[in-house]
Amino acid sequence: MSTIRRVVVSSVDDVVLEQVERPAAAPGEVLVRSTIVGICGSDIHAAHGRHPFISLPMRPGHEVVGVVENVGDGVDPALRGTRIVVEPNLACGKCPPCLAGHYNICATLDVFGCQTPGGMTDYFTIAADRVVPLPDDLDDRWAALIEPAATPAHAVRRAGDLRGRRVAVLGAGPIGLFVTLAALDAGAERVVAADLLPGKRALAEKLGAHASFDPTADGAADEGLAALGGKADVVFDCVSRESTVRLAIQLLEKGGSIMIVGVPAGPTVIDLDLIQDREITLMGNLMYVREDVLHAIELLRKKTFDLDDVVTAQYDIEEAGAAFRASDNPNHVKVLVTVAQPA
Ligand SMILES: [Zn+2]
Ligand SMILES: [Zn+2]
Repeated sequence: MSTIRRVVVSSVDDVVLEQVERPAAAPGEVLVRSTIVGICGSDIHAAHGRHPFISLPMRPGHEVVGVVENVGDGVDPALRGTRIVVEPNLACGKCPPCLAGHYNICATLDVFGCQTPGGMTDYFTIAADRVVPLPDDLDDRWAALIEPAATPAHAVRRAGDLRGRRVAVLGAGPIGLFVTLAALDAGAERVVAADLLPGKRALAEKLGAHASFDPTADGAADEGLAALGGKADVVFDCVSRESTVRLAIQLLEKGGSIMIVGVPAGPTVIDLDLIQDREITLMGNLMYVREDVLHAIELLRKKTFDLDDVVTAQYDIEEAGAAFRASDNPNHVKVLVTVAQPA
């Protein structure tokens, strides 16, 4: 019996490798050899015990890039050797949202690497319909950004036609940065980013935001409105705290929309009186479906930014603990874990 390494997270300071039996592809599955895995903001939330729907210990790795090593019965053998990313939403396919094509909100949704063991390991198996083949012009590091770009692609699609619109993006971590990118690509006339860190604001502008401001400063709403050149038609809240939803309402035109993209830590007070009075649409956003993944791939293929600006650190899987600590530092943007196979 051969064993493989798998990362187990019990807290941000307790990230270890466990040895488990190498899996084999069951019928309908593929066996994947991991190459690069991103650490998600949700992994860090969960490691701090602050994610409402992920319990510890967790075996992370929903942002995984790999190569199909083998296929189970009933799976096209031509998939062997194919570079892929994983679409981590594990849906039932039978409930009303699934039947309507909204399998990201499946009644019994599990997320690979969140509620099930993920891809931060040497090898894993997953249903063959959950892998997405990669174009040759996106190498593994670029491909690691597909999953974090898919949620923004989904949220921007749900926001409706952004052409000629004013957009504010609260939070300039990977999700906020990719919302900015996707909103610009969708034709938004003005995109303004908010983050408390000057480095993140500068990065958002480097990726194309027209302006940025500090959402925690005195007079932040006025500064945001000035930067927008008027009220926003859509605000993407990639932080989703009481303070950011309040700011979103202050920035928003009557009849506008707030897209809740960040994962709130739990029940959150909002100014419901203003939501009602201003006919504000408050919309939740969870993950994405295949069309959003394909859109994310096309967005990244344009390579409109410097990869090293977004991928700010990379660690070997043996140093997964250091990778999690780095990812917990808000000055980092995206931290990747390389799964180099032991000789
Ligand atoms: Zn993610
Ligand atoms: Zn379902």
